[in-house]
Amino acid sequence: MAELLIRNAVLLDPLKGRTGAWVLIDGRSIAAVGAPDDPPPSDGAEQVDAQGRLLTPGLIDLHIHGIERWLFEAGPDDLVQGVDALAQYGVTTVLPTLYRVLALGHLDRVRELAAALKRCRCVQAPGLHLEGPFLWLAGAGGETLPGDVSHLEALFAAADGAVEAMSISPDTPDIIPVIRRLVERGAAPFITHTQADVEQTEAAIEAGARHATHFYDVFPAPACVEQGARPVGCVEAILADPRVSVDFIADGVHVHPTAIKAALAAKDPQRLIAITDANIGAGLAEGTYDTGWGYAVEVRPGDAARIRLPGDPRDGVLAGSALTMPQAIANLRRWLKAPEQQVWAMASWNPAALMGWPTKGRIEPGADADLVLWDDPGDGVPQAARTWSLGRCVYDRGVMMESAK
Ligand SMILES: [Zn+2]
Repeated sequence: MAELLIRNAVLLDPLKGRTGAWVLIDGRSIAAVGAPDDPPPSDGAEQVDAQGRLLTPGLIDLHIHGIERWLFEAGPDDLVQGVDALAQYGVTTVLPTLYRVLALGHLDRVRELAAALKRCRCVQAPGLHLEGPFLWLAGAGGETLPGDVSHLEALFAAADGAVEAMSISPDTPDIIPVIRRLVERGAAPFITHTQADVEQTEAAIEAGARHATHFYDVFPAPACVEQGARPVGCVEAILADPRVSVDFIADGVHVHPTAIKAALAAKDPQRLIAITDANIGAGLAEGTYDTGWGYAVEVRPGDAARIRLPGDPRDGVLAGSALTMPQAIANLRRWLKAPEQQVWAMASWNPAALMGWPTKGRIEPGADADLVLWDDPGDGVPQAARTWSLGRCVYDRGVMMESAK
């Protein structure tokens, strides 16, 4: 069987920290991990000299709509090319997120997008994340339909079961049967786009919702009804329940860093997850890019993707982020000043644990060989030098040296 030895690396396991210096890959899995003092196996395996680079698990993005010039829901080819392009950002597992194609009139689009998941060759896409259609607040468009289990079943049938997560709002009418059916189906209900009160949120959690996506963002504060009594709602109900994990768009625009620090202070660090919610244009230079939604988005460094529609009231409105996962890691490292493995865990082990993927997000024997070697170019934003997905090299920036067998 094909073996690969990555040696002279700095291994960063999200649960144990800096643990070793080499990894032996056997086929699709990690066969052995060694400390600097352990001599690596010297024969048989193809070898890569990491030259002291950091080696982490491949990153996982549970909420992302597009990257560079590809909007996943635009069509199957955009989905495949966009997903596979994520390997250069160190992402090895992704849930392509659909938003505007979830009404019953678009089932054919869902069908062809779900079928395209199998064509992704570089990055693993085990299923879709459906952001809606049973949402209370629309955000930047999308559906706001009441809960409907038959509609849910039609979406599952169209996707041939390849739905890993669905975002719902606890304040949407008739949402509890939808949450229960998602759990029965093995798909994760994510709370979002909501102004739910405490009781509605607790009911959703009791029904099986255990995660909130782009937390704080499109979770408006409840109105103040009595001077001297601070209103409390969905955000507080989620922070108060240790079973519920939260994810953030850590771009400094959608969520203030202090709000992320508050969640870290309130919760087990393993309940914090990084997402990008990236849109078309993310990863590209500053500019204006057409989305295929009837408007363009303007992308600027350090800002989000904003709708560009001169003269229209939507001009300048947030339309998702322009964030990439390495930039999210850099921002969280700078803001949180947490132990480094805690920050990397937010983009690897923590989402894997939430989704019930026990072989992902770790560097240990038996784990999937989803690995990334990183350069740190000096601006604090890690840059993938080489990415492996299930033991196969799927991205190579051409800066690594091979050594002889
Ligand atoms: Zn989204």
